[in-house]
Amino acid sequence: MQHFLQTIFGLDGKSALVTGSSRGIGAAIARGLSGAGADVVVHGQTAQSTVEVEAQILNTGGRAWSLARNLAERNAGTKLIEEAERLTGGIDILVINASAQINATLERLDQDDLAFQLDVNLRSTVDLLQACLPRMAERGWGRIVSIGSVNQLRPKDIVTGYAATKAAQHNIIQSQAREFARKGVLMNTLAPGLVRTDRNRDRRESDPEGWQRYVGSVNWMGREGQPEELVGAAIFLSSDACSFMTGETVFVTGGV
Ligand code: NAP
Repeated sequence: MQHFLQTIFGLDGKSALVTGSSRGIGAAIARGLSGAGADVVVHGQTAQSTVEVEAQILNTGGRAWSLARNLAERNAGTKLIEEAERLTGGIDILVINASAQINATLERLDQDDLAFQLDVNLRSTVDLLQACLPRMAERGWGRIVSIGSVNQLRPKDIVTGYAATKAAQHNIIQSQAREFARKGVLMNTLAPGLVRTDRNRDRRESDPEGWQRYVGSVNWMGREGQPEELVGAAIFLSSDACSFMTGETVFVTGGV
């Protein structure tokens, strides 16, 4: 049994880059991919932010490096892929997880805030894929896991701009999944529902009772997800177990 699981889910010999893995969902996925055998490049906006997760992986016997790049900057994705390729010898698994989220209704959506979310979520996705996909195709194997959101399919007014970037991100995954399907590179979106991370810390702490009411009604399970609850699906989408699936979305939402 163990050998069978290792054969289809094991990531020994693979190298992964997880963007935005200094905390939250990305950090859980980085630790999870390492636990499944992958060498992992941890990424965040600053060198200080990535140190802890890199150390956690090294302390459990894994191989890890860390890189800092602000993905709001033009060509940061290309540079990140080039640096990660140099460190590891070749990125086999790219998890596109870093994102910016500025909540505002359409009426109050500031154009600079919209442009910033488009830069971090969409333009950097294009940039990362342009640099990564040809290299994966040349090597004949690759997995892209794009972290979407329940909002990509079920948007609300308060996340108008953010949700649109997530829908567009998945659209790009689909067009490229079709393009690269015969080249060994499979690409899917992993879409979380509400997960307890720094992203919602202010809201949790400023109105604990209102937060509990919201959490109780946000999904069928009536609770927040934990970052670790995304890890199983991320390992599946990164592995040989995912061999006949591309351009799809896996929703991990607690039921919506
Ligand atoms: P988080 O706790 O806010 O962490 C964000 C991560 O992205 C950090 O590692 C941060 O690096 C990095 N990052 C942010 N802006 C960046 C930039 N401009 N350049 C480079 N890196 C940047 O996020 P999370 O809640 O774990 O969310 C992870 C993913 O899941 C995101 O794509 C998000 O849209 C999606 N998601 C989250 C939820 C949820 O409820 N939490 C729900 C649905 C979807 P630093 O640490 O250096 O700042």
